[in-house]
Amino acid sequence: MAEPLLDVRQVTLQYKTSERVVTATHRVSFAVHAGDRFVLLGPSGCGKSSLLKAVGGYLPPIEGEITLKGKRVSGPGPDRMMVFQEFDQLLPWKTVAENVVFPLVSAGRMPKREAMGRARHYIDKVGLSRFADSYPHTLSGGMKQRVAIARGMAMEPEILLMDEPFAALDALTRRTMQDELLRLWDDTRFTVLFVTHSINEAIRIGTRILLLSPHPGQVRAEMNSASEPTQQLALETQIHDLLFA
Ligand code: ADP
Ligand code: MG
Repeated sequence: MAEPLLDVRQVTLQYKTSERVVTATHRVSFAVHAGDRFVLLGPSGCGKSSLLKAVGGYLPPIEGEITLKGKRVSGPGPDRMMVFQEFDQLLPWKTVAENVVFPLVSAGRMPKREAMGRARHYIDKVGLSRFADSYPHTLSGGMKQRVAIARGMAMEPEILLMDEPFAALDALTRRTMQDELLRLWDDTRFTVLFVTHSINEAIRIGTRILLLSPHPGQVRAEMNSASEPTQQLALETQIHDLLFA
């Protein structure tokens, strides 16, 4: 097997407050390869967001190591872009295009003009060309999440980190967004690390699924996803049994 793109090895994460120490994950290991749609699945509080923060370089492991392309992750970087659940992750005083351009320019990636071209390309990919000059407050929740995805993709990161990006959407929109993400992936074959607590979403989105046990998160199982509906149903039952056994 080729070298993994992202290697998370025996990672323990903790939060220290003045009163106590919270262990979020305990010795979690997984490897994401280029082109994977890798899903972290587990109940609320099992440390999924903490793992994404650690990969993002915002939360240093107290034990273990995270490497990206063989290089130790020691802080945030434009090679790892994050998409969050919240609709307010966009800058409200900037238009859609300006929101997508902003990280490109501030990371010193390219001049404004070139960045604008790149931004338009990705705004088009998420189907928002008509709204490039609109402000976030005029958009629906699903549209805001599309902007956040376009912004992340425009940076062309090594890996896109998505923390329950569709969890706050209504069921129908959520379904549409899942389909759109898969379509984008078919088109571009980026690498994504996707967090969810929904078994159904994990099966729809993932090529690989890492199942985490409740607080503190530990690896319960790792599995390949399935494309056939009957296989997906079997997988759903299997995961359900593992989680609620
Ligand atoms: P998940 O995303 O799977 O719901 P989190 O990674 O957000 O889980 O949280 C894992 C554990 O760490 C939980 O017990 C949570 O309460 C705790 N936690 C998360 N963030 C903080 C923080 N900033 N300070 C203290 N504890 C935290
Ligand atoms: Mg979370």
